[in-house]
Amino acid sequence: LEDPSVNKLNEMTADLLGKEEAIYLPSGLMANQISFAVHCRSGDEIMMDRTAHPIHYEGGAVAVISGASIKPLNGINGVFNAEQLVNAVRTKDYHDPQSRLVSVEQTSNLGGGVVWPLETIKEVCHTAKELGLYTHMDGARLLNAVIATGISAAEYASTFDSVWIDLSKGLGAPVGSVLAGSSQFINKARYWKQRLGGAMRQAGIIAAGGIYALENNIERLKDDNDNARYLAEAIEKYPQIELDLSTVQTNIIIFQTKGITANELYKRMLEKGVRLTPMGENLMRAVTHLDVNRKDIEYVIQVFDDILGEY
Ligand SMILES: *Cc1c(COP(=O)(O)O)cnc(C)c1O
Repeated sequence: LEDPSVNKLNEMTADLLGKEEAIYLPSGLMANQISFAVHCRSGDEIMMDRTAHPIHYEGGAVAVISGASIKPLNGINGVFNAEQLVNAVRTKDYHDPQSRLVSVEQTSNLGGGVVWPLETIKEVCHTAKELGLYTHMDGARLLNAVIATGISAAEYASTFDSVWIDLSKGLGAPVGSVLAGSSQFINKARYWKQRLGGAMRQAGIIAAGGIYALENNIERLKDDNDNARYLAEAIEKYPQIELDLSTVQTNIIIFQTKGITANELYKRMLEKGVRLTPMGENLMRAVTHLDVNRKDIEYVIQVFDDILGEY
């Protein structure tokens, strides 16, 4: 509570997200898990899209830390609607787990970086409140959505009880995430941060990287979004690539491969210094970020052409 850089980063993030307070954490995963632990008791149920990060990439932490269970919803590209939420909510019958929280991922990672429309967010959160649920935004890439749409981060965050942003992805800082909410929420989050070993001594040196990122690297997310679009449009024409351009709204491209497995394409690209992420037999992800400029993208397109042209 005494480090001036950490305090400044927290204040800047709380302002950016329109919340009373914020808390610097070592990772985005911890921001999700602390939020779940504050909102839920063990045995409660959290609703989120079936593609959501806590289901696939958090080592089963929900079961370990809050002891809640997850009900996956069947959204489109990671985005579900208020009607699906209503249908998923449990009854108060004692046989049922108790629905406690709904979580929204902005942008949707496995949805291909698709932006949750503000209207959908408002409807889902309004419905959640009517149903007596807490609301959480996993905003790992919220600022990519902000830059893509011109809608402010505070506007996107306004209907959520808790929301966080990642500093170490597109924003390019070395370490951390910042979780925001009401003072009451953040006070409870502080206990969990300590409990999980997330309290860091002399953290100012890394928090300063976060301050730098918020001051200098938000506007430039436009380059990442534009580069992803440019790359997607260039590779979409290959018969071996099946790509829905309408999903390429920010800095992620997810596509299907045909006639070549994702793993084979991954290996061939890596030999030329281009790293993609195979996510299944025929599913591939490409992500743009501040270490990749337009010239690099031209090179990536050339490598795609060299490899896929052979087939
Ligand atoms: C990366 C990511 C996280 C976890 O963030 P870390 O900083 O890697 O712990 C959570 N949610 C989404 C959507 C992510 O993309």
